[in-house]
Amino acid sequence: MFDSLNERLGSVFKSLKGRGKLTEAHIEDGMKEVRMALLEADVHYRVVKQFVADVKARSLGREVMESLTPGQQVVKIVYEELTSLMGEASVPLDLSGPKPAVIMLVGLQGAGKTTTAGKLALYLRKAGKKPYLVPADVYRPAAIEQLQKLAGEIGVPVYPSESSSDPLDICLNAREDARKQGCDVLLVDTAGRLHVDETLMAELVRIREKMIPSDILLVADAMTGQDAVKMASAFDQDLGIGGIILTKTDGDARGGAALSIRSVTGRPVKFVGTGEKISALDLFHPDRMASRILG
Ligand code: GDP
Repeated sequence: MFDSLNERLGSVFKSLKGRGKLTEAHIEDGMKEVRMALLEADVHYRVVKQFVADVKARSLGREVMESLTPGQQVVKIVYEELTSLMGEASVPLDLSGPKPAVIMLVGLQGAGKTTTAGKLALYLRKAGKKPYLVPADVYRPAAIEQLQKLAGEIGVPVYPSESSSDPLDICLNAREDARKQGCDVLLVDTAGRLHVDETLMAELVRIREKMIPSDILLVADAMTGQDAVKMASAFDQDLGIGGIILTKTDGDARGGAALSIRSVTGRPVKFVGTGEKISALDLFHPDRMASRILG
């Protein structure tokens, strides 16, 4: 992720750092390049506009202009603003409330929901929790089988869902079973569709009302860029999400969704998927991401 942005910004900063003193014109020119680089990385245009305005205002301040290393100060400002754009600190899963805490995974078909459910189960187990997986995508029997297989591989209990059952009944029965087995987190893999539609949302709302999840995570494909951002807004409006998991960041050279989604939706990215393997899930750290962008 961020390969091209890293390269583009690298050359802007090289030229800014190469000067002893910076004039307003140098900063103007540099910011034009930063703006182009961010737009090319598929960052939402409103986010780019605000970002560049903030960096410019701070860069034209006295501490930078009169400093001995003004170029370096500008780079530092860009780093701080990037970190702030992505949310400053990483935001943990919300596992509050009675046990088992319910986490709903929602999103479009193909975003990586089922794979991510397995990844989260492994992550939670490594963190000392006792997760329980619930395949609730009854419209895609392959998804049920896929999650059962993943659960078997990592040795996590999974509800024996039938595609003929009602998804809410599956969730309610799974919660009972998880309680009996002493599990503390219920991970619900819900149905996805190719597009956001009313039937899908109505089913998710019905599950939310009865299961009272402590966290609802939208799973979105980072490679879809600004479509991922739009989709997150749509899910948030209808369902109220607690955070986002961006998948396939290993295949996303641009990084636009990672940079804009929090600022546009107000919801934090909590995890990123970094590959197809079940262990390829990382906590999202805004400061580390910003460092990666600046290289
Ligand atoms: P679902 O329809 O949302 O449940 O999606 P799946 O979990 O079936 O995933 C769809 C495809 O995306 C599968 O081929 C996964 O292996 C792949 N996938 C999921 N997450 C990642 C990721 O972080 N990186 C890569 N490269 N592939 C992923």
